[in-house]
Amino acid sequence: MADQLVVAAVLVDDLSAPTRALAARRTRPESLAGRWELPGGKVEPGEDPVAALRRELREELEVDLEVGAELEAPGSLPGWPLTAGLVMRVWWCAVASGEAHAGEAHDALAWVDAASINDLAWLTPDLPVVDAIVARLAPA
Ligand code: C5P
Repeated sequence: MADQLVVAAVLVDDLSAPTRALAARRTRPESLAGRWELPGGKVEPGEDPVAALRRELREELEVDLEVGAELEAPGSLPGWPLTAGLVMRVWWCAVASGEAHAGEAHDALAWVDAASINDLAWLTPDLPVVDAIVARLAPA
């Protein structure tokens, strides 16, 4: 069976010169509660990945997105591998309208810069993505 596609946003303060990115702390499932992630979720069957990204961020954080470039996975991989059977594609994004609020899926949000991003307990599969983000954030 093909991998389930997950999409996530690196929501930044400024797409052309990002210094801070938004991290979100999960409330569920119990095994992942308290861990930080890039907000996003599963693409539904037949759904366009960027449309899914917009839907997830509207549902989870009540924001409309300006979607920028994709954060390409290393090598020729189609995305960032998560756990078995899940692969994640990630886009740089900014808030087009609204203000990010934690909904049911998260109980805390944090805008983190290159110096503080690694202080958070990220979901393990997000760590390589976080490294790629740090390499591209300008000093705050
Ligand atoms: O958010 P949702 O539960 O729909 O995401 C599906 C799965 O993708 C999660 O169980 C989690 O393991 C994984 N995920 C991840 N990193 C993210 C978003 C989701 O590892 N930033």
